[in-house]
Amino acid sequence: MDDLELLDELGKGAYGTVRKVRHTKTGVEMAMKEIRLELDDAKLNAIIMELDILHRATEPQIVEFYGAFFIESCVYYCMEFMDAGSLENLYDGRCSVPEDVLARIVGKTVRGLRFLKDELQIMHRDVKPTNILINRRGEVKLCDFGVSGQLEKSLAKTNIGCQSYMAPERIKGEYQNMLGTYTVASDVWSLGLSIVETTMGTYPYPPETYSNVFAQLQAIVHGDPPQLPDSYSETARDFVARCLEKVPSRRATYAQMLEHPWLLGDEARGLDGVDMRGWVKQALMRKAARKEREREQQNDAAA
Ligand code: ATP
Ligand code: MG
Repeated sequence: MDDLELLDELGKGAYGTVRKVRHTKTGVEMAMKEIRLELDDAKLNAIIMELDILHRATEPQIVEFYGAFFIESCVYYCMEFMDAGSLENLYDGRCSVPEDVLARIVGKTVRGLRFLKDELQIMHRDVKPTNILINRRGEVKLCDFGVSGQLEKSLAKTNIGCQSYMAPERIKGEYQNMLGTYTVASDVWSLGLSIVETTMGTYPYPPETYSNVFAQLQAIVHGDPPQLPDSYSETARDFVARCLEKVPSRRATYAQMLEHPWLLGDEARGLDGVDMRGWVKQALMRKAARKEREREQQNDAAA
């Protein structure tokens, strides 16, 4: 920690805070995630050892891992700083993401997930818009995947919050004491839900429309899956429907997704065929303008 200069706070999650930091010896800027865990040193050490496999996760679609350490009962996890934040930070209301940009983001995400599965033999377990990070160069990278079983177990006690990206079979499994058939297909559901959220500008099962969390989870398990808005192409809508199949065995695999016309179309557009930088720049400007408006409204209200 002595080697790090603490900079801005980047965000807060259910388990701790993410801060921008600078490694003073090298000048490298990083994102440092603090995870508070009430564990003994042996367990904390086990987590740090498990996280070590992240040094093998060198892939363009995975956020680079710089190392982890613990102090008292906190694990500190240092990773590549993504200067445009998460996908949640960039979408802005309904249909603010053009279809070619969306296909590019999804294509990259699917490649990242396939890498985790094929090369590291792990599932992500927490696919959602805040765990898909983007930078001003228009690169898309995954973070916060389930690499440490011990870390996972230590987090498991907290409740699942009001925005569940869990697949129906996983929700059922939670009720049956974690014995659900929870496989890589569950990540595919979460991806589908994240795509719909990105295009709608809100989480598809808004908590305020349900009287309680149980009713909301019932809707995920028993209701019709959400769909992409009509303004997107039939091909895009079909792709998302293939991710949001209720029965896990019918859901698309990563190989099938990469062969789907929607992602083949994205690949055909090539490296410069989608203006990712331009879109990120605009999205960040929209966000800054929105923040400014909110500030003005607050000032007016105060006056
Ligand atoms: P949860 O706690 O449920 O996982 P979360 O993903 O929002 O939710 P964190 O993982 O703690 O919580 O992240 C908080 C926020 O910090 C994210 O929403 C994201 O905007 C930001 N963030 C995380 N990692 C980075 C990073 N490497 N670079 C830039 N911003 C980041
Ligand atoms: Mg996260």
